[in-house]
Amino acid sequence: MNELIIVGGGLAGCEAAYQALKRGVSVKLYEMRPLTSTSAHITGNLAELVCSNSLGSLLPDRASGLLMHELEKLDSLLLRISRATAVPSGSSLSVDRNTFSHKVEQELGKFPNFHLIRYEIKTLPDSPTILASGPLTSPSLAEAVAKFTGQNNLFFYDAVAPIIFRDSIDFSIAFSASRFAAEKGQTADYINCPMSRDEFDAFVSALVTADRIPLKIDEKNIVDGVNAGKSKFFEGCLPIEIMAERGQKALTFGPMRPIGLMDPRTNQRPYAVAQLRQDDLSGSLYNMVGFQTNLTYPEQKRVFRMIPGLKHAEFIRLGQMHRNTFIASPTVLFPTMQSKIRPDVFFAGQITGIEGYLGNISSGLLAGINAVNFLRNSDLLVFPPTTMIGALCRYITESSPDHFQPIKANFGLLPEIKNRYVGRLERTTQYVENASLAMDTYLQEVGDQLR
Ligand SMILES: Cc1cc2nc3c(=O)[nH]c(=O)nc-3n(C[C@H](O)[C@H](O)[C@H](O)COP(=O)(O)OP(=O)(O)OC[C@H]3O[C@@H](n4cnc5c(N)ncnc54)[C@H](O)[C@@H]3O)c2cc1C
Repeated sequence: MNELIIVGGGLAGCEAAYQALKRGVSVKLYEMRPLTSTSAHITGNLAELVCSNSLGSLLPDRASGLLMHELEKLDSLLLRISRATAVPSGSSLSVDRNTFSHKVEQELGKFPNFHLIRYEIKTLPDSPTILASGPLTSPSLAEAVAKFTGQNNLFFYDAVAPIIFRDSIDFSIAFSASRFAAEKGQTADYINCPMSRDEFDAFVSALVTADRIPLKIDEKNIVDGVNAGKSKFFEGCLPIEIMAERGQKALTFGPMRPIGLMDPRTNQRPYAVAQLRQDDLSGSLYNMVGFQTNLTYPEQKRVFRMIPGLKHAEFIRLGQMHRNTFIASPTVLFPTMQSKIRPDVFFAGQITGIEGYLGNISSGLLAGINAVNFLRNSDLLVFPPTTMIGALCRYITESSPDHFQPIKANFGLLPEIKNRYVGRLERTTQYVENASLAMDTYLQEVGDQLR
């Protein structure tokens, strides 16, 4: 058999499809949108980015920079397209989300054996399949997955940030700059709304007392022993109002930190800053960085318009909170992304508990290659734990099942380095060098399994 079913045309599913197609396997990719949508997607596009348009830092000494480097070595289609559709955003890789999606569909469509089927899958297919239906897997399929794995699905809450029309920003107050732009020789890619201490304090008071949308936590098939009775948020992407509740100054150490920025009106560092990042190639839309929220829509408009420069802001999209479903990967999956229950079923993307765009592209890449190897009776790949991809797969499959929580790429997942009592830069350099060497050595060893 030389055919693979992929459920879900998101980041993981599209990368998996490319890896299978380029190895000569036919792919039937089932995507339910636009006929049936999720609560976070807006378009019917493949590989839609649901919130931020940033894939993370490009800097080689950051976890996302390392992951990009690994994806590049492994010929990731989605990383290549990200670079081709990048918008200016300092040292991050951010894309024009619509052009990105269209290019993904265009590139996959170049393969004659690629079949895109707009249809909601409700039960697990009985031929070789990659399940990449994402954190917002449709309820019927989520139920089928729970039955398949023999466990209740787990869940947590994740939020999206608002997007603003650039021409509604007041540039007599807001200014363009990147952090430490002069020192790092960077261009002024972000729009910054500076705040005095009084403005910030008033903003925080309004933020933490504003009306929120109540979370539903007793949803059928989702509540488990750990989750029952309390709401759970992903620590790496907390709603801004939850961050603000943790202390009056919490945001000035988080998304509103003023470090590296100088207000040109005063030539002083502001007390706090709200940063906006370009969201489309034409530069007409800007994303509020770190402002993911669960406030009601009228309250978002009221509170965010208190930010200096945003008094008349017009929003093309407001923030929202969503329930993310994931499986108990430590009991369900091998680090190859293959299920322990049925060898011809693979999982990829956020449904496995890997968080973040890049991590999800990586798991799709691995599932795609391994599903092909399975079809060919060839050995499956397990990346070394010293690499970022290997570490992510190991984390989701070897963590304690009782405390399993989604995770983003980070250096803490990598095995300890020899000399860890050194400065951050030296430490991360060691991690990156070890990872790079391990990946190169591994790729040489498994050359045949990669073809
Ligand atoms: C609200 C929210 C905000 C997020 N914000 C960020 C962020 O800013 N930055 C970041 O790095 N990560 C973010 N994430 C996390 C994660 O990186 C993204 O969700 C990412 O898109 C996951 O990739 P995926 O391929 O697993 O799922 P998706 O990209 O969601 O793709 C899954 C696809 O499967 C389809 N599908 C679902 N059920 C079925 C079915 N039954 N039949 C057919 N098709 C189906 C869906 O329509 C979707 O297109 C966010 C997640 C959520 C939910």
